[in-house]
Formats: sequence, structure tokens, C-alpha cells
Amino acid sequence: MTTKPESAGQPAASTQRLLRAIPKVDEFLGWLVPAPDAPASLVKNSVRQLLESLRQEILTGAPIKPADLTQGSLLPRLHKLLASRLRPNFRTVINATGVVVHTNLGRSLLPEAAMESLLAVGSRYSNLELDLTTGKRGSRYSLVEDILCELTGAEAGLVVNNNAAAVMLVLDTLAKGREVIVSRGQLVEIGGSFRIPEVMSRTGAKLVEVGATNRTHLRDYENAISGETALLLKVHTSNYRIIGFASEVPLADLVALAAKRNIPVMEDLGSGCLVDLSRFGLAKEPTVGEVVRAGVDVVTFSGDKLLGGPQAGLIVGKKEIIAQIKANPMNRALRIDKFTLAGLETVLRLYFDEEQALAAIPTLAMLAVPLADIDRRAKRLRRLIGKELGPVCRVELKDIASMVGGGSLPEQPLPSRGVVLAPLDRSVNELEKGLRELPLPVLGRIEDDRLLLDMRTVADKEIPLLANCLKEVFEAKNK
Ligand SMILES: *Cc1c(COP(=O)(O)O)cnc(C)c1O
Repeated sequence: MTTKPESAGQPAASTQRLLRAIPKVDEFLGWLVPAPDAPASLVKNSVRQLLESLRQEILTGAPIKPADLTQGSLLPRLHKLLASRLRPNFRTVINATGVVVHTNLGRSLLPEAAMESLLAVGSRYSNLELDLTTGKRGSRYSLVEDILCELTGAEAGLVVNNNAAAVMLVLDTLAKGREVIVSRGQLVEIGGSFRIPEVMSRTGAKLVEVGATNRTHLRDYENAISGETALLLKVHTSNYRIIGFASEVPLADLVALAAKRNIPVMEDLGSGCLVDLSRFGLAKEPTVGEVVRAGVDVVTFSGDKLLGGPQAGLIVGKKEIIAQIKANPMNRALRIDKFTLAGLETVLRLYFDEEQALAAIPTLAMLAVPLADIDRRAKRLRRLIGKELGPVCRVELKDIASMVGGGSLPEQPLPSRGVVLAPLDRSVNELEKGLRELPLPVLGRIEDDRLLLDMRTVADKEIPLLANCLKEVFEAKNK
């Protein structure tokens, strides 16, 4: 029997009968023998929440029958609710999207060695801000400054919370109340609310746009320089590309102009590679070292994009400029914590040996992995699920393309292999949602009405877990 919500006054008699049939909290708690393995207060709150949602369901005319209000029906609902409330909100997922630096899925994965450093400084005291040579107070970023300088050729450096913070801090230090010249083609939005023009106005720097969207010439910069100019800023257009009739001023020319007029040049590199990834089929991107060597005064980049470390904003450059940035009181509000520092130092040290970095840093390893290895993963997954899923889902292998992600290297698909699922017992959207809502969520991507699992971003040790997730989601429906 279905009851309709009443437009006014008393609920219908049938609705009232259903409402009276809802058990009382204490009665419900009496059913819970043995008590669930959860804190008593959480159990009680969950019972209340369940009973209240039943009331609402009845009042809004959901199709509830008296049988839905019995112990036999309600106990499983409570256990399901409890399980979901006991599950951490923030948990691991399987990234089968093929997007390596996936901002929504945690960007870069840390190497094992970095995890060990985190564990050590998390559970023991450390020299976070103590100079062990002098016994005096030290600064936390001095622990990585020498390493950063060695890897990039810069004179000095510091680290803040993320690259957005790095850009703000540099602008606030060097250009507050003065002018910053930027090419129109580089006024990018990175995502979220980080847009170069808005960041600029927040820091009190005045944006002076030069050139056109597709082309900017050296004379455009030259003509815009005035007594108010504090900085020439180049922004790496990491997440889009202008193709066709387009040109930017070569960095060397910009640096030469700035030197002639005695104005510093900043480059926001975004991703900031420390190694050249072009040998893995990606377009040549300038490394941080190359930009420093070109004479740029201050360079900012992310710790957790192509560098493959923890979230951080790295700032390297000329000594006098970095000294001014270090002295900015805003620095304190943007500082990194000890976990970041521990992870970052370990990851940076891996770069002393490039081959070691490529093998040990997951972000780099996933970009460099041979297609044959990805293919092996795809075949292994199909072997693990093929027979069981056969009656409910078509499982095929397909040549697909992965993306670098993180606003890095746009328009540069990497050849990959995927396991393609075409469910026979539900829509592909239902399958996608089912996998996303598992205790261990699985994220793939939908293409041509099928679910694609790109094996580039699935680690070998995750394959059996992924197979179990797939079996679980199909079992849940066909029980
Ligand atoms: C990603 C990016 C940023 C922001 O870096 P976060 O580390 O995400 O704060 C800034 N500028 C550019 C060019 C970027 O690509």
C-alpha cells in the first residue's frame, strides 16, 4: 500500500499507522545482541538517524510496508548504515582513469623511501628547526635548499605549501603596488579559483597585459616597461595550448631585455620537471635547470606534479631575490609541515641518480612504463575476471590513450592498454557508480557507452584487488 503525502492537516490514517509502527530507539537497541563492534554513542546515533529517515520516508509517501518496519528488515539497514559511518571518509581508491597526475585522486604517489621518511619523522622527534651544527634555531626549508640548488643550478631556494602559494608569495614580495608585465596568452586559469589576473590583484600587484592572445613580441614587453615595472612574468601555459598562428617571446630574449632594463624575470613553470621526459614520447618541456640556466631570476613549480613528490611549492632563483622572499612575513603562513619536508627531501635525493628517480618515483615510472608491461597488466586482469564476469559483462582489451594530467603536457596522449567493460545486466553509468561506491572505490572512464579501465595507472599489486572489486560489484546485483 502506498500513501500519498497530505497537502495540509493530519496525515492519512494509513500514514499514522505506519508512523506508530516505527520502533522506539530503546526497543531497537534491545534487538542489538550481541552489540555491534562500534562505539555505543555511534550505534545510538545511527539508530536515531535510521528511525528519523523512516519517518521522513513515510511522511513523503515512499512505498513503505509494515513488513519494512520489523526487526528482520531494519537490522540489515542499521548494519549497512553503521558500516558506512565506520568507514573513513578519506580513503584509498584504484585509479584506472589513466590520468597519471590526477588532481582529484591525490596527484602524485610517493615512493616507498619517502613513505619511510614520513613514518620516521611522524613518530619520532626531528631537527625540523634546529641547526645541528650551531645548536641554534634553523629554518625548516634550509633542510632541502642545498639539494634544490644542486639539482637546478640555482643560487638559493625555499619551499612553501603549494605552487599557488609560491606564486602569491613571490608577487607579494617583489611587486606589491607595482606593475607586472605578462603576455595575454599566458593569463591562465589553473583550476579551482587560481587565475593569474586574480592572484595578481590579490597581492596588490598591477597586471600589465601585453601582446595578443595568440602572439606576443619582444617589443610589446619593451613598450610596456615603465618606472613602475617590478617584474616580467612568464607563466607556463600548462593546461592548454594555442596552435596555429602563435608565438611567444623566447625566454633568452626576455631575460636579455630584463637585464638591460634592470628588472627581474619570474617564470611560473607549473609542473616543473627535473628530468627531460621527451625520451618517453612526451614533448620537450624545459626542465627547471634549463630555465635557471637561461637566467630567469626566480622560478616557481609544484612538488606534486611531474616532480612526483608531496604537495609543495618550490621557489628557486638568485640569492638576493630569494633572500627577500624568505624575509616576507607571509612565508610563515604558507610554510610546509614536517611530513612534506621529509617526503620532499627523500624524493629530491632520488634525482641525484636520474635512472633511480625514473624507477622509484611512481609518477615518473607510470609515464615511462613500456606498453608491453601495461598490456601484461590488462591481460592479467582479464584472466582474473573473464570467466566469472562472462555471463554479465563483456570484457575486452583495447588500445587507448592515457593522459599526463595535472595540467601538465596537454594534448599529449600516451599509448596505453585498457580493459573495456560492457555490462549486460545494467547500464554503463550504473556500473560506473557501483564501482565508485565500493569500500575500495574504482575510478575508470566512460567512452562509447563502455567503461574503460586504463592499466597504466593501476599498480601490479592492485590488480587482484581490482579483480575483486569487479566481482563484488557484479555479485551485489546478481545475488
Ligand atoms: C598547477 C599550477 C599552479 C598551481 O600549483 P599548485 O601546486 O597546484 O598550487 C600554478 N601555476 C601553474 C602554471 C600551474 O600549472
